Amino acid sequence: MNAYTFRIARPETRRIEVELLIEARGEPHLDVRLPVWTPGSYLVREHQRHVDGLNAQADDGSELPVSKVDKHTWRVATSGARMVRVAYRLHCFELTVRTNHVDATHAFLNPSAAVVFVVGREQEPCTVSLRMPESWRAWVALPLEEGHSQVYRAQDYDELADSPFELGTEGSHTSHLFTAQGVPHEVVVWGRGDLDARRVIPDIQKIIDAEAAIFGGLPYRDRYLFILHLNDKGRGGLEHRRSCALLVPRFSFVQKAAYEDFLLLVAHEFFHLWNVKRLRPAAFTPYDWTRENHTRLLWAMEGLTSTYEVMALRRAGLITPQRFLEIWAERCTQLLRTPGRLRTSLAQASYDAWIKHYRPDESTQNTTVSYYLKGSVVGFLLDLELRRRSGGARSLDDLVRILFEKHGAAPGLPEDGVEKAAIELLGTESGLYDWFETAVRSTRELPLAEAMAAVGLTVVLHAARNAEDKGDAEEDPTDAPDPAAQTRAFLGATLRDRSGALEVTSVAEGSPAQLCGLAAGDELVACDGFRADLKVRLSRAPPGQTVRLSLFRMDELLEVAVQPAPAPRDTVMFVPAGKPPPEIHTQREKWLGAVWPAE
Ligand SMILES: [Zn+2]
Repeated sequence: MNAYTFRIARPETRRIEVELLIEARGEPHLDVRLPVWTPGSYLVREHQRHVDGLNAQADDGSELPVSKVDKHTWRVATSGARMVRVAYRLHCFELTVRTNHVDATHAFLNPSAAVVFVVGREQEPCTVSLRMPESWRAWVALPLEEGHSQVYRAQDYDELADSPFELGTEGSHTSHLFTAQGVPHEVVVWGRGDLDARRVIPDIQKIIDAEAAIFGGLPYRDRYLFILHLNDKGRGGLEHRRSCALLVPRFSFVQKAAYEDFLLLVAHEFFHLWNVKRLRPAAFTPYDWTRENHTRLLWAMEGLTSTYEVMALRRAGLITPQRFLEIWAERCTQLLRTPGRLRTSLAQASYDAWIKHYRPDESTQNTTVSYYLKGSVVGFLLDLELRRRSGGARSLDDLVRILFEKHGAAPGLPEDGVEKAAIELLGTESGLYDWFETAVRSTRELPLAEAMAAVGLTVVLHAARNAEDKGDAEEDPTDAPDPAAQTRAFLGATLRDRSGALEVTSVAEGSPAQLCGLAAGDELVACDGFRADLKVRLSRAPPGQTVRLSLFRMDELLEVAVQPAPAPRDTVMFVPAGKPPPEIHTQREKWLGAVWPAE
């Protein structure tokens, strides 16, 4: 048994003390180590830089020698002691869902970023005792040790690493208890904002019901905890087996788009309790805490979860069929505006998450693709393909349920597990192997039009009608833009306002901006010699006509000539494909859970 204690004596100093009591068992030395990553966030991080003063004592109180053997491992000489007490201080000043944050009102602790494990004893049970100010209480998904009020028990280090601690005063938190699917759930909120629990809790219940329905119920019977942090600007979510951490801006609960975004986040993290926390790649079984854990399946873990965040909201009645289609048109458009989709496959983007996804730079859009974005679109299309190729008998629900039943426990999901299960579902004659080859392993365009035909919808690809045009769905096909219409000018540079100038943050592959030599960091200051209305004049320059751009590059004033091109047809609109045959009409209604367009 490894016994931990978290001591929070003066939270205003933004640090805690962690103590670990270990049986020496006659070992000459013990190694204690911090993980280099937090599951769900695929980047090697150096959590140990927040540790200081790590020391060790024998049972008689004498100091034991400690030396570091690598950046995240400390070696303690046991010197014949029976028990060894390791203690260190941890600085907790980073408010994200994967890090530690402590202030006078609360402590949010992620054990994978806070708690060392004893090398070789990761499989052993552990306990955590809390020593914190009188007025504080704890919200933790771990069970309490029998007969104790502030001692929690984990069956092994992985379970501890997967269980964040939210601690603090009642006054700085609000807690909402409710039942869903007959199981107790709790939402604990830290931070103030415009959250009205009378609206939010019923909506969360609907999401739980919609997702549980896919799998025939919840995979736990005791309880589930949502830890929700309200803050000034950050947004994020991190999934766990019996809890999740959510971080959103304070005022996310009234304004429509912000609230939809919050609900998508809830639906996303909750879906993960099946997909990635239980159905997890064999490459994560068990987690290797010392290095990158590579898998080509992140598109299925994150992408399919991002597919279901939208599906769950539709099924829960929290978005309309119109909005459901708009979201997918927006995501397809975003993908078409990512030149990197033609350079890096989904499988490759998954594998390279560790070096690319969490480190975007000015070249990212041209060189790679997000496995969240493309993965979610692939999930959306796979659902339609399964429906189309099975005459409506099968859907993505069947696939994720089978995957969960088959691979939801160790040894985990093999790298080819998703497509194998899909092919088994429809039979080898289904042609799905080639579909996966295209969608997952190649950089070819996704077969969007074929998939949408399954539900009697047409894809109109057109140039953006204005700067805000991100993709859309239209009930009346005659209202769709004419793809052949005269288009707007396209420069291909992403710009942001910066003290009177427009700073280039990236340029699209093959665009006029790239061809004339514009690059990230350039500050555009004038168009044809004038500063006035720079943004508007750039967007209105007629395609084909040369304009002179004045810009600063590393403080040097330069001038370049650029010829804007006609805007590319990279904007997706879904419209009904005339009057569909009755079976297609039925498929669409079943898929959308409603009649669209309204009759
Ligand atoms: Zn996720």
